[in-house]
Amino acid sequence: MKILILPGDGIGAEITAATRLPLEVLDRKFALGLEFVERDIGMAAIEKGLDPMPDAIMEEVRATPFTMLGPVSTMEYPPGAQHLPSPSSLIRDNLDLFANIRPSRTRPGVPSVAKQMDLVIVRENTEGFYAVRTMFEGKGEFMPTPDLAMSMRKITVQGSRRIAKVAFDLARARRKKVTVVHKGNVLRITDGLFLREVRSVAQDYPDVETEEIIVDAMAALLIRRPESFDVVVTTNLFGDILSDEAAELSGGLGLGGSINASNDHAVAQAAHGSAPDIANQNKANPTALVISVQMLLKWHANRSGNNQLASAAAHLETALDDVLADPANHTVDIGGNAGTDQFGEALARAVDQ
Ligand code: NAD
Repeated sequence: MKILILPGDGIGAEITAATRLPLEVLDRKFALGLEFVERDIGMAAIEKGLDPMPDAIMEEVRATPFTMLGPVSTMEYPPGAQHLPSPSSLIRDNLDLFANIRPSRTRPGVPSVAKQMDLVIVRENTEGFYAVRTMFEGKGEFMPTPDLAMSMRKITVQGSRRIAKVAFDLARARRKKVTVVHKGNVLRITDGLFLREVRSVAQDYPDVETEEIIVDAMAALLIRRPESFDVVVTTNLFGDILSDEAAELSGGLGLGGSINASNDHAVAQAAHGSAPDIANQNKANPTALVISVQMLLKWHANRSGNNQLASAAAHLETALDDVLADPANHTVDIGGNAGTDQFGEALARAVDQ
């Protein structure tokens, strides 16, 4: 089985290297038969005279069950590449990865604002207030006159129903509670439709408790009582913002893992960006990407019933918790002095045990 590694920009090369090392140990220990293949996307591809997401690599992603995708800094691309879709959005659109699943939990030994939390934000990933996700052709953001800028937001029945199903299925395997976050009091038609469809899907899950919270209150309640949330389902932009808030509450953006998934394909990508302020300084925390890869292994194990993969995913999660429990392994963002490479080596040793 091939695992395709696309380091991307900024801290991408450092965090993918620190994630690959323990993954190679995991591969040997559990005889997973992974073949590691690395390809240049983003600035590294542009510097070779290619598009940030070359077509050939897109095809490889499509054909590969395991892709580890680093962050990309599209805003920093040279003018000639600015108009091109970002690698992240091309992958998401081509594979219709409609569910962005972002867990956040407190972990022993990791300093966090939240005393206790263990939640998953299920963010709709293909619609909403995102200019490139709204239209069949053209962009949902435009300027009719120099002093007027407009943006459109798309919400569909199909998009709302399929993300709701992901959330309710996930809740069934967890603490059986779904919080629906919306702004239906103001965005009556779009969020009204989202809410209507989530409520309809909820009727198929009578064993799962459903609560509804308006997004501005949710921003506050997430801080006040983070322990009360299990699965949170919401539209694209709200999910993007709330998941960063949740990651921060759990210790920092460097802990925010995520997968982008459809019903038959998933890609591991940390929730954070390319962190240009700390790039190439051996300061980045690879935890978010490790969690993302762990989620990807588990996602495949659940779908295929592959017990070896399930054991490998569980082992990686335990090893990560063990490494994070020791402050000597903490990177700067969570109050330590360990380098990115040191963290990867510590995790590789823990995986080996
Ligand atoms: P960011 O997430 O890159 O960084 C925000 C802050 O968190 C920075 O101080 C950074 O140092 C810190 N941080 C992030 N990840 C960290 C990690 N793993 N370890 C330690 N600290 C970490 O957000 P930004 O600064 O707003 O965006 C930078 C670039 O990333 C922009 O070009 C943006 O478009 C891009 N971006 C890409 C993605 C993606 O590819 N998925 C997501 C978000 C932002």
